[in-house]
Amino acid sequence: MTSPKSVDDRLKDAVGPKGFSQDPAEIAPHLEEWRGKYKGHTRLLLKPATTAEVSAALRICQETGTRLVTQGGNTGLVGGQIPLGGEVLLSTHRLNRIRHLDESGMTLAVEAGVTLAAVQQRAADHGLLFPLSLASEGSATLGGNIATNAGGTHVLRYGMTRALVLGLEVVLASGVVLEMMRALPKDNSGYDLKQLFIGSEGTLGVITAATLRLFPRPDAVVTALAAVPSPAAALKLLGALQAHTGGMLSAFELMPRLAMELITRHVEGTRDPLSAPSPWYVLIEASGGRDSNLAASLESGLADVVAGGLVSDAVVASSAAQAAGLWKLRENISEAQKREGASIKHDISVPVAAIPDFLAKATPAVLALLPGARPVSFGHLGDGNLHFNFNSPAAGDDPSFLAQWDEVQQVVHDMVKEFGGSISAEHGIGAMKVASLPRYKSHEELDAMRAIKHAFDPKNILNPGKTVPPVLRL
Ligand SMILES: Cc1cc2nc3c(=O)[nH]c(=O)nc-3n(C[C@H](O)[C@H](O)[C@H](O)COP(=O)(O)OP(=O)(O)OC[C@H]3O[C@@H](n4cnc5c(N)ncnc54)[C@H](O)[C@@H]3O)c2cc1C
Repeated sequence: MTSPKSVDDRLKDAVGPKGFSQDPAEIAPHLEEWRGKYKGHTRLLLKPATTAEVSAALRICQETGTRLVTQGGNTGLVGGQIPLGGEVLLSTHRLNRIRHLDESGMTLAVEAGVTLAAVQQRAADHGLLFPLSLASEGSATLGGNIATNAGGTHVLRYGMTRALVLGLEVVLASGVVLEMMRALPKDNSGYDLKQLFIGSEGTLGVITAATLRLFPRPDAVVTALAAVPSPAAALKLLGALQAHTGGMLSAFELMPRLAMELITRHVEGTRDPLSAPSPWYVLIEASGGRDSNLAASLESGLADVVAGGLVSDAVVASSAAQAAGLWKLRENISEAQKREGASIKHDISVPVAAIPDFLAKATPAVLALLPGARPVSFGHLGDGNLHFNFNSPAAGDDPSFLAQWDEVQQVVHDMVKEFGGSISAEHGIGAMKVASLPRYKSHEELDAMRAIKHAFDPKNILNPGKTVPPVLRL
């Protein structure tokens, strides 16, 4: 009599010989996330190449109670993609086909493991735009973007990922495939189920494909950097330029002087384009059609505010290379912070108008706990989203600085709540914030989340322990 196959052997059969690995060298890069904050372990890496293989694997997991973590590009910043409890790890990188581009309908059907950069490029090849834009776009995948409801630099104009997804294909914990790839801007035929999976961080199902909304590619894109004395001035500038350009801004990114110093110190090929240092800067992008005369409009808008004293200096890029140089400053802040040393980070949002008051109150509160720490708060001002970050004191002791992360985080998050904000603007909850979520979300909301989790994943096999806090039994 032959003995029954082990679960792992059944999973390997489900995905075929090219669809798994147990080679430690191949698995290693999947086990640690970008910041080095979370390190996991797994006995088996699955690499399915089709939706049918994902479905077959999940059927076995559900039947045997085998826990599984889904991973895309491994750029997530809250540890959601790391198998912290030794779960089987499912990488989507072989689900990498672009299925269909509809030029006149402006939609694109792609599989989950395609990188964001590849999606942007495919849209551009057809003269179209996929506007989601993140500094991690070379590695981050569409599946990961959707599972985290990623934000990035163009939310001001185009919304979060949620607004860019028309259809989804999802494999449930049971192995059942929900085929919802409809390319319909309008579809009110019952619950909009796809929205439940967008931002669900791998806890409700494995996203295998999506139908995305594309946009006309703007012919005129104007990029500028403005020096402002304060976040309050930056906020006024946002209102003034939106009014002046008739709402044509597509990015409005705040950064402090220290960010400029760290970037020019650590990132090759960068320089401060303005003649005098300024306490704060805003990177501005406006985009529109060929005949929109946008450059002139943005330049005259900036000239008005310079004359009015709201902006001390500004530069408008006169070539694509100059625009790329300005974006390089913004996109390398996280990298420059990392090269400078340890930092404690928060991805928070408050109502847009509250940003200056939040910074004025929360920054000294953190400095009281972390004397000598160096604030590098930057982000998507137009969305009320700050990366409220602090680098260790210049001569600091990194491990003891980082040991204060939880204490500092609670002070910051309590203040975010006071301002009516969110403790996660765009990165998600993952492993990092799951324990503190009950402090900031009502029992009723948490119970509704648990009910949804139970309905889709009754055995709690998908990304267990992440995003959805367990009920505390006292
Ligand atoms: C330098 C840098 C800059 C960044 N900038 C931004 C930014 O501006 N805005 C922003 O929002 N984020 C940003 N991020 C965070 C990160 O890039 C995003 O969260 C991204 O969407 C994650 O995609 P990924 O493919 O790497 O997902 P992963 O890191 O692999 O996974 C993230 C989460 O999604 C789940 N998941 C992944 N794929 C699937 C799938 N197919 N089905 C179900 N669940 C899945 C995982 O289980 C995990 O919970 C940045 C990260 C870095 C390193």
